[in-house]
Amino acid sequence: MTLDAEPLDRAACQAMDAADPLASLRDRFDLPEGLIYLDGNSLGAMPKDAAARAHDVVTREWGTGLIKSWNSAGWFDLPVRLGDKLAPLIGAAPGEVVVCDSTSQNLFKVLSAAVALRPDRRVLILEGSNFPTNNYIAEGVAAATGGRVEVRLCEKDEIAEAIDEDTIAVAITHVHYKSGHVHDMAAITARAHAAGALSIWDLCHSAGAMPVDLNGAGVDFAVGCTYKYLNGGPGSPAFLFAARRHQGQALQPVTGWWGHAAPFAFEPGYRPQQGIRQYLIGTQQILSMALAEVGLDIHLSADMGAIRTKSIALTDLFIRLVEQRCAGHGFTLASPRAAEARGSQVSFAHADGYPIMRALIAAGVVGDFRAPDTVRFGFTPLYVRFVDVWDAVDRLVAIMDGGIWKLPEHQVRDAVT
Ligand SMILES: *Cc1c(COP(=O)(O)O)cnc(C)c1O
Repeated sequence: MTLDAEPLDRAACQAMDAADPLASLRDRFDLPEGLIYLDGNSLGAMPKDAAARAHDVVTREWGTGLIKSWNSAGWFDLPVRLGDKLAPLIGAAPGEVVVCDSTSQNLFKVLSAAVALRPDRRVLILEGSNFPTNNYIAEGVAAATGGRVEVRLCEKDEIAEAIDEDTIAVAITHVHYKSGHVHDMAAITARAHAAGALSIWDLCHSAGAMPVDLNGAGVDFAVGCTYKYLNGGPGSPAFLFAARRHQGQALQPVTGWWGHAAPFAFEPGYRPQQGIRQYLIGTQQILSMALAEVGLDIHLSADMGAIRTKSIALTDLFIRLVEQRCAGHGFTLASPRAAEARGSQVSFAHADGYPIMRALIAAGVVGDFRAPDTVRFGFTPLYVRFVDVWDAVDRLVAIMDGGIWKLPEHQVRDAVT
């Protein structure tokens, strides 16, 4: 899409929607009338099929099938069956992905497995400005080793340079949660492997938003969530990737019965499963997992290349319109300007970001705020239209020109921003 050649007005945006090969997918989602939802990078929108699926799981599978449904409704196999469905979206093979638990929990498992695989090394490298839970979890993994392992925090270009013979693993989030900066997965992985270290990736902000090729890059482990771009619903389970070469070798330490070689033999001691199931702990949240499948199914009907193309066009358009139409209002682009270095989100820094975001939400444009000064907008290509970008900026212009964000009701802080 050659934005520069087009006159930018609402009609031009409507023309882009008319030419959008993904346009019909918006009908698979239930979005409140008139709302412009630019927060799918935090909680994806609800697929229309979700309510019927939830009803079926509760009434038929649970209500009627009762305990038989562990077999007859496929509940026991759901984590691996969904993992196989998700695998092609992230460049993984069947049997390398399992859907379970939360991102934080899965990160604990793979970091611990990495520590066990490199008993002579001491350092885990993470990005200091990353979503804090990743670094908190790494601290916990290090603490559990009683001082053998330490966490080193670096930023962007320092990461590759920090890798050396003492590095256990680099554990980086592919797309930065705040800026949207994309790290070079293949280059950092190659650098890690050259030093004998492992490469671990968090795909929370890339799975479903852009092509990811874990095996192409030779990645060792990965984690990510399904409730952001994959539209799995609030608290839907996360996923965990372990390259086939590590399965049976790199064991995660939370040795629950679902990771046992024979869970229903009820043996007195733990004997690890040799495949991806070893990364499971215990009974999974079947209702949430069933809903995650609804979101995944929509993705599997869309082409990831087309998703990325539209994502870049949406974010380019948003940056251009905000910079043109809100010039002089104090917004500074906090995301990479080069599209290839950017995920599916755009952040602007603004000293009054919090009240501005509140005023926008009150005007029906939902983005979010990340302390201390970032307003963040996520663009999910499956349901965000070009005309939504136009209308969102239109409402932002009205808020800035009219000083509406200064109203007292927009200054109050909520718990979740
Ligand atoms: C969203 C996100 C998480 C979420 O972790 P939970 O365990 O699901 O709460 C973790 N890390 C990153 C980088 C994220 O973006």
